[in-house]
Amino acid sequence: MKKVAVIPGDGIGPEVIGAALEVLKKAAPGAFEFQSVAMGGNAIDKYGEPLPAESLKTCQEADATLLGAVGGPKWDNVPPEIRPERGLLGVRKGLKVFANIRPAKIFAPLASACPLRKDIADKGIDFVIIRELTGGIYFGKHEAFTTPDGEKAARDVMEYTEHEIRRIAHVGFKAAMGRRKIVTSVDKANILTSSRLWREVVEDVAKEYPEVKLNHLYVDNASMQLIRVPSEFDVIVTENTFGDILSDEASQIVGSIGMIPSASLGDNNRGLYEPIHGSAPDIAGQDKANPIGTILCGAMMLRYSFGMNSEADRIERAVDEVLNDGLRTGDIFTGSEGTKLITGSQMKDAILAKL
Ligand code: NAD
Repeated sequence: MKKVAVIPGDGIGPEVIGAALEVLKKAAPGAFEFQSVAMGGNAIDKYGEPLPAESLKTCQEADATLLGAVGGPKWDNVPPEIRPERGLLGVRKGLKVFANIRPAKIFAPLASACPLRKDIADKGIDFVIIRELTGGIYFGKHEAFTTPDGEKAARDVMEYTEHEIRRIAHVGFKAAMGRRKIVTSVDKANILTSSRLWREVVEDVAKEYPEVKLNHLYVDNASMQLIRVPSEFDVIVTENTFGDILSDEASQIVGSIGMIPSASLGDNNRGLYEPIHGSAPDIAGQDKANPIGTILCGAMMLRYSFGMNSEADRIERAVDEVLNDGLRTGDIFTGSEGTKLITGSQMKDAILAKL
């Protein structure tokens, strides 16, 4: 039996994870042993640190890890070195996952939730953002210091090695080979030295994929083009911070942040799967959280870590069907004709019923 480490986390994390586990158990009965792991704010409360060594070890020994979300206002003022986000970065680093894959696809029944002009959305939106996850400014040296004049100052270092860029570029080109064969590499090569290296290495890797068309965009331009002509994007490859920002923009284009799963992969199949949303403290405990993003994480896990494509297809089809039936949690409810507002657990039950 395959082992899956499960990090419910904080806020709506346990709600959406509970839903995803029920769906996985129904779609692939008996396939997995789930081991619950403390991480985030709840681990700070219990163990005084966001990622206890035992938790990381369980994830490292598992065949895949499924994560809800961590953090919340309760832990906003804890010392930086034990903030819940440190646990998140720690688990990504500990699992050696370096490629974050975030699909941005418009679900036809939710087209009305797309904030873009109808003629733009009607051209279709279906792209993937592949974000480098363990390098760049988030993992560079962070320093607060005092200048010789006695003024407070701070710096964060953005650093990339050739090897880090090369391996994420390969993930992007390989993904494009299975899609429309267009890679857009996003950087800020007009200003940043690390981006100039990024561009040079991506161009070198591109030579190994002659069928794939490579474009480069500066990140500021990319953020504009994503809302102007989203249909033109297929695979976007970018560094950690730019990817963080662009993928949140993409989540709004396709509807709700609550709908989007993500997979983080390393050199083997032991991925980390997490919805792109946070712990949503504003709606936690009210049964308002949309579980679809986490349920689709389960489907991605079946596909990428376990090669269980038909089970993954069934889950994705069940999600399509409930949306076609007009069922909507609050985040995707626009009041349009034929739709019905339901709770998070009703959404989960409807998906289970379709399965
Ligand atoms: P958020 O994603 O938690 O919430 C943003 C908005 O989207 C809120 O209005 C929320 O109600 C809504 N939302 C999010 N997920 C939803 C869902 N599944 N269904 C319905 N509505 C949903 O982002 P935030 O408010 O910036 O952060 C809240 C906390 O989460 C912070 O402590 C932050 O550090 C943490 N966070 C954690 C992660 C993670 O664990 N991966 C990611 C981002 C933020």
